[in-house]
Amino acid sequence: MKLSGVGEFGLIDRITRHVENHPLAVRGIGDDCAHNRIPEGCELLTSTDMLLEGVHFRRDWTNLETLGRKAVAVNVSDVAAMGAKPRFLYLGLALPDDATVEEVDAFMDGFLSEAERYGACLVGGDTCRSLQGWVLSVTVEGTATQGAAIGREGAKAGDLICVSGNLGDSALALKMLMKDRKPPEALAWRHHRPRARVDLGVRLSESRLATAMIDLSDGLAADLGHILERSGGGARIDLQTLPLSEAFREAGGSWDQAVTGGEDYELLFTIPAGRWPEVEALMSEIGPIHRIGEIREGQGIDWLEGGQPGWQPQAAGFNHFGSRG
Ligand code: ADP
Ligand code: MG
Repeated sequence: MKLSGVGEFGLIDRITRHVENHPLAVRGIGDDCAHNRIPEGCELLTSTDMLLEGVHFRRDWTNLETLGRKAVAVNVSDVAAMGAKPRFLYLGLALPDDATVEEVDAFMDGFLSEAERYGACLVGGDTCRSLQGWVLSVTVEGTATQGAAIGREGAKAGDLICVSGNLGDSALALKMLMKDRKPPEALAWRHHRPRARVDLGVRLSESRLATAMIDLSDGLAADLGHILERSGGGARIDLQTLPLSEAFREAGGSWDQAVTGGEDYELLFTIPAGRWPEVEALMSEIGPIHRIGEIREGQGIDWLEGGQPGWQPQAAGFNHFGSRG
């Protein structure tokens, strides 16, 4: 059915009809503002991401249900990256004339299922017409215990650099898609269906373990660079310790892709060296975490191959206004 068949308000009703009440939402969808409570002793952390058809996603590479999930996961990942719990979501949705009600239903199915997985609730948004392609804007608000949120600024010389999961799978899948090749399922999954590492982020903040943290959206080199910019200091990364999946190796993935490829949505964080056993103890519940290097005095990143510096990544991380943007 065409969107004109239901009109703007009919469409909003449809978008929001499966939204359940959240204990912290006093007034959710349907009033002029979302009116939310936050738990006693908590602070609010907010992040927004835009997703544009043709820039961030292609309709022929993904389906709308999967896109709905990814829109939530990548946004929630920013909240996880500061050690907060996602609570409230807002969805700005601009739709072209040829969009159908069924497509919007499929998108919302994915969006709301993924939100539920993280315990977050859709509490507001805006809906309008787009002159070209789908445009999505997702905002998430999360909460963290007062004083526990983890920024990019706290890394100190001697801290260990740790990362969850594997690097490069998503970027390698994207590279294959751009060459009209079908990526292996394991890689494609990591590109289209990223998971935000909320449990890990919250454990790291509650235990005051991480000194700095970021989620890997632009690639290890760029995102570690962001931590170093804010914290000061340099880093040493041991290339042999980078976590690379079986599928990544089999598909011929290189260090370069692992280091500069974007959209891993893993957490990159630093901890005081003596606290590694506490991180190790988290793994049975949270999954693999790898130590890949350390923060040092000085500037820049030394990429060590067999203990020796000299290796350098060829490509830069993702940058919208850069040559690859
Ligand atoms: P207003 O005119 O006050 O901006 P709208 O008519 O745009 O209100 O929206 C009516 C209600 O529906 C508001 O509570 C708004 O937050 C909600 N809403 C509109 N679009 C969306 C959407 N895409 N997702 C979630 N909530 C939405
Ligand atoms: Mg509005």
